[in-house]
Amino acid sequence: ETLNLKPHVAILASPGMGHLIPLLELAKRLISLHGFSVLFFVQTTYSSVAQSQLLFSLPDSPGLNIVELPPADVSDIPSHADADTRIGLVMRRSMPALETSLSNYGSAGPVTALIVDMFGTDAFDIALKFGLPKYLFCTSSAAFLAYLLYLPSLHQQTEGEFCDLGGPIMIPGCAPIQIKDLNDAVKDRKSEGYRWFLHHVCRYKEADGILVNTWEELDWKSLRALREEDAFKQIPTPPVYPIGPLIKEVQTSLRGVECLLWLEKQPPESVLFVSFGSGGSLSSAQVKELAWGLEQSQQRFLWVVRRPNDFTPSASFFSSGGNEDEGNLAEYLPVGFLDRTLGVGLVVPCWAPQVEILAHSSTGGFLTHCGWNSTLESLVHCVPMIAWPLYAEQRMNAPMLVDLRVAVRPILGAGDGVVGRKEIERVARLVMEGAEGNEMKAKTRQLRDSAIRTSTVGGSGYNLLCQVASEWKNGT
Ligand code: UDP
Repeated sequence: ETLNLKPHVAILASPGMGHLIPLLELAKRLISLHGFSVLFFVQTTYSSVAQSQLLFSLPDSPGLNIVELPPADVSDIPSHADADTRIGLVMRRSMPALETSLSNYGSAGPVTALIVDMFGTDAFDIALKFGLPKYLFCTSSAAFLAYLLYLPSLHQQTEGEFCDLGGPIMIPGCAPIQIKDLNDAVKDRKSEGYRWFLHHVCRYKEADGILVNTWEELDWKSLRALREEDAFKQIPTPPVYPIGPLIKEVQTSLRGVECLLWLEKQPPESVLFVSFGSGGSLSSAQVKELAWGLEQSQQRFLWVVRRPNDFTPSASFFSSGGNEDEGNLAEYLPVGFLDRTLGVGLVVPCWAPQVEILAHSSTGGFLTHCGWNSTLESLVHCVPMIAWPLYAEQRMNAPMLVDLRVAVRPILGAGDGVVGRKEIERVARLVMEGAEGNEMKAKTRQLRDSAIRTSTVGGSGYNLLCQVASEWKNGT
């Protein structure tokens, strides 16, 4: 069959919508623009309703073969285990299934490369066995990638905890990283999460190349550092290909969804969209304060509300997208909030069609947890942001967005770690009606234009993906 003669690429996604979504976009592009077939391996451990819906809604493409890896046994993982440990274990335990599946497919078509995300480096061993080039796909910024590549050096240079260093973490050629903004795994070097994290980042240098979901104008400083700084040459850093932004396309089939119909009825750029990604939760005190802040700001809003969690901000990560019963919303919102804001605001439990909302002309601002996909989607649709990071690398993305002047960051209340209602009101007004909001909007337009330039024929991101694709095809 002629189809089978197409070159194949194998892609392995780790758990989490933030990994799955951009890798699927990469797959689609390799199929439609570069004549590949893709074997796409997804995890079914910790799979969510949102994940099933996403996979179900994929266009029927003869080039895209979704292979669901059987769920790993996670019964021995304690419920308090951190995200890095859980993802690390699930990935490791799915290696035998990946290997079997890859060897079975070997006869179906020539697999020319294996692409994994930041938690998939165990699969490098399988690539070595099969003699396949191995590529890393960074689902975050080049700034974060630089930090990850440099972390093994920092680990060696530093005794004790990074938190005790006093000053910010300096990555050659990059913006300094404040200690408080470090991802959680790195804040405790004795933790299991840190060991997993370090395990993966130490292997990044083994990749034959690193694809990163960003582009020059957005991330120029770190991309330059990765190319030019001696510290990165010494690692040695594999070739880095900024091929982004790869984001989900707007699906017109979703038009009938309730919140999009509601948006239709609102004035242009009048609605503040509030969402904390696929895994973010707020504490009960913070949910109440956010509700008061939104109400008092008198802005229209569309809020994806989750059940509060007082223990961890990533509570929904392993149960997101509709798995969890959000319960009775009124129970954790201030008394009377839903009635008082009727018509002005819409509250949606758990999950909403985010790209369609950001692309909608009624949306004027985005209060976001600064997940990298959310960030890219906001920029490409020219929506200025309120940066409200919660966990993972989000705290490093937030200052970058503020520096780029596309976001404002609310100030935490002293003592209780909660952002107060007055502060929420201030930032909501600033983004939605202030001159600063307009300036941020103008800046997002510039970045959006550069995103279009880099991704269209002849643009640098476009050319780089062509280059890698032809290297895979030619086996070089
Ligand atoms: N997303 C969505 N609806 C939701 C929450 C998230 O469509 O209610 C999508 C969002 O558009 C983005 C992805 O899920 O593409 C979340 O990725 P991101 O990197 O922003 O954050 P993460 O969920 O990994 O923390």
